[in-house]
Amino acid sequence: MIEMVAEAPLPSKEKNFGEWLDGVLQKAELVDIRYNVKGFIVYRPNAMFMVKRVYEIFEGLLMKKGHSPALFPLVIPISNFRKESEHIKGFEGEVFKIDEAGGERLEEELILRPTSETAIYPTFALWVRSYKDLPMKIFQSVSVYRHETKATRPLLRGREFLWIEAHCVFADEQGARNQVEDDMMITKKAFHELGLPFLMVEREPYDRFFGAVDSYAFDTLLPDGRVLQVATTHYLGQNFSNPDVFDIKFADKDGSRKNVHQTCYGPGISRIVAAIIGIHGDGYGLVLPFGVAPLQIVIIPIPKAGKEDMIMGKSRDVFRRLSRSGFRVKLDDSDERPGEKYYRWEMLGVPIRIEIGEDEVKGNIVTIFRRDVRSRERVDDDKIIKHVRELKTLVSEELGRRAWDRFNSAIVSVESRNELLEKRERSKIVRAPFCGRRECSDEIKAETGGLEARGRRIDIEEVPSGRCFWCGREASHIAYLAKAY
Ligand SMILES: [Zn+2]
Repeated sequence: MIEMVAEAPLPSKEKNFGEWLDGVLQKAELVDIRYNVKGFIVYRPNAMFMVKRVYEIFEGLLMKKGHSPALFPLVIPISNFRKESEHIKGFEGEVFKIDEAGGERLEEELILRPTSETAIYPTFALWVRSYKDLPMKIFQSVSVYRHETKATRPLLRGREFLWIEAHCVFADEQGARNQVEDDMMITKKAFHELGLPFLMVEREPYDRFFGAVDSYAFDTLLPDGRVLQVATTHYLGQNFSNPDVFDIKFADKDGSRKNVHQTCYGPGISRIVAAIIGIHGDGYGLVLPFGVAPLQIVIIPIPKAGKEDMIMGKSRDVFRRLSRSGFRVKLDDSDERPGEKYYRWEMLGVPIRIEIGEDEVKGNIVTIFRRDVRSRERVDDDKIIKHVRELKTLVSEELGRRAWDRFNSAIVSVESRNELLEKRERSKIVRAPFCGRRECSDEIKAETGGLEARGRRIDIEEVPSGRCFWCGREASHIAYLAKAY
C-alpha cells in the first residue's frame, strides 16, 4: 500500500465543523443554499441520490415488517390540528398557515403539515371498523414544514425537511409496544448499513413528543460534539384515538367497541444524510459507503504518449466488467489531468478509484485506491470483481468501526458537578446519575452552556448507585447529557 500525501482542501472538521460542512456541501455539489426563502434549500443531484437511497433502505425495512405506503395531503384543516391539546401546544408556534387561495379568503385556515397525526388519524377513524382491520400499518415519505426559530443549518435544521412517518393502529397496548420495538430494530439495521453510531434512549418525561405517552429516540454525534436526533418512535396510547379527539374505534371479537392504541415513527432522512456526510467525511471531502454512493467506482486512465490505445482499451474493458457486475461505475476519460480527477472524485466520496496506466497494462494489474483509508493497492486483472466485492463490505466495516470508536470515546462518566467541570473539555456525551427533574435539567443547561439530558438508554439496563450528579437528590436513572442540534 502507498499512502497518498496531498494537502487537504477542507479545514479540519473536528476543529471547525461548521466551516467544513459548508465547504463540503458546496464543493461536493450537495445542496444550494441560495434559494431566496430562509431555511429552505435546494437538494442537488449528488445529495438527492443519497436521499433516495436512504429512503429505499428504510422503506424496504418497513415493508418487510408489514407496513404499506400511503400519501396524505400536505394541508391540514386547523380544526383537525386543534383536536389534541398537547400536540397543538407543541407545534402551534411553528406552523405555516394558508388563509387565502385564488384571491379569496378560505372558509377554514389550513396549515402545512409539521407532522401528520392530525391529517392521518381522522381517516383512520373512517377505515378502522373491526378487529379484522388491525393492525393497520402505513407510512409516507414526505417533507414536513416547521418554522424553526433557532438558527437554520442546511440538512441539520431546516424549515422544510425530508422524513418518513409511519403511523400504526393496534387493538391493544401490547401490540403497539411491540411496534415500538420493531421501529427500533428497523432503525438499528438501517444505521448499521450506513455505518452510523447512535445512542438509543427513552426521552425524559418532560421531553416527549407532543401527544405521546412514551418517546424513544436515536441520537448520533457530529464532529462538533453536538448530538443529532435522527429518528424517534412514540407510543401514543389512546391520546389521539379517544372519543374527545379522533375517536378511532373498532368492534372487538366479543362485539364490544374499543378505542385503538397507536404508535408513530419518524426517521429524519435529511438529518441521516447530514450524519453520513458529517460523520464519515474528512479533509478531502465526502467518504461514502457503497450503499449510498451515487458513483461507487471511477476508472481513471493515466495517459502516456504512444500508449493511449492500450490504456484506453484496458480501461474500457474494466469498465464493462464492473458495470456488468452491477456496480455504479464511471470511466472518466475527460481531458483533465489525473490529479484534478483524483481531487474531484475524492471530494464526491467515490469509494473506489481504479487507476490504469502503462504499468497496469504491462503487468496485467490495476491500481485500486480506497477512499475511506486513502491508500492504494495493486490487484491482478482476473481478481478485480472479486476484490471490489470484498471491498464493498470492508469499506462499510471500516466506516462503521471508526465512527463507533469515536462515538464511544466521546462518552465520559461523571459522578458530581466538579467532576463534570474537570472533564468538560473532553466529554461530548456525559453519562451521569440523574434525578430526572426538569428543574435540574434546565439548570444544567443554563450553567454548562447547553448540556441537555437526552434520556436513559434502553438497550442496556443501567442502575444508578448514588445521587444526582448535579443537585444531590436521589438519582432515578443514569442519564446521557449532550449539547444537541
Ligand atoms: Zn438533579
